[in-house]
Amino acid sequence: LYNQVQDLKGNIRVYCRVRPFLSGQPNRTSAVGDIDERTITILTPSKSGKEGKKLFTFNKVFGPASSQEEVFADTQPLIRSVLDGYNVCIFAYGQTGSGKTHTMTGPAELTKESVGVNYRALSDLFLISEQRKNTCSYDISNGFNVPNANLVPVTSTSDVIYLMNLGHKNRAASSTSMNDRSSRSHSCLTVHVQGKDLTCGTVLRGCMHLVDLAGSERVDKSEVVGDRLKEAQHINKSLSALGDVIFSLAQKHPHVPYRNSKLTQLLQDSLGGQAKTLMFVHISPQPDAVGETISTLKFAERVSTI
Ligand code: ADP
Ligand code: MG
Repeated sequence: LYNQVQDLKGNIRVYCRVRPFLSGQPNRTSAVGDIDERTITILTPSKSGKEGKKLFTFNKVFGPASSQEEVFADTQPLIRSVLDGYNVCIFAYGQTGSGKTHTMTGPAELTKESVGVNYRALSDLFLISEQRKNTCSYDISNGFNVPNANLVPVTSTSDVIYLMNLGHKNRAASSTSMNDRSSRSHSCLTVHVQGKDLTCGTVLRGCMHLVDLAGSERVDKSEVVGDRLKEAQHINKSLSALGDVIFSLAQKHPHVPYRNSKLTQLLQDSLGGQAKTLMFVHISPQPDAVGETISTLKFAERVSTI
């Protein structure tokens, strides 16, 4: 049915998204140079004053003017394959402030146009299950927030929007300026789908994880102490464990180190094998973020199989 998606089995796709400059931010020259469908150039300052250029290639590059709709259009086939019994994992990776939550959920004030992948994915699954109702009966349930994910049966998009708003508000409420909790935790929306073919009785199960990862920025040990430092080190550890898993999958290593973190243990069934993985890497156009941008893109290139 979705031949295009079948081909993606076991592969790891990487999409890069650049966020625009935000209003109120000093309007400096962007650190992002040329962008086309699959490549992006980063302009790096050099000591001699001469600008350097670094080119990166991904499955897809979304520039600062890209809309939520465009981003979703390239994600939709993957999401729909959940209804055919595939396991899917979609990650948002990048430093704090680079646009991860914007892609996955949307801005603080959500509108029909600005809602992110989460909402669009859920409503699409309901739409397709409704369209297929004469041939297949679907049971869709979802859960929030690793590790104490609770499964809630949902029957419609409005149920899901209600639940997601709740989760979104909780996250926003617990974040105060510098002490942004949401940047220090992973947030995961998990959807389980069970379908039964009404003519032959075949049952299929699929699962989708939409993961808004903790900020990937490296923490300056001189700036944080105590619990904050422990927390930061823990995040760095789980992100590098995720990187190691994806990297060994990309390289088709016989041993995949799933057991090195809770995150990768939890997602084990949806990473590798028949599962389909998509990583959105997010970068900021700000020149002062260029160091993090380069390391983000290097990480992303390392995990991609293209
Ligand atoms: P992160 O989750 O990576 O910390 P956010 O998604 O919160 O980053 O984005 C930081 C800010 O930039 C937010 O105000 C967000 O609304 C805005 N933003 C991010 N990406 C975009 C985009 N593609 N278009 C418009 N605004 C964006
Ligand atoms: Mg965020």
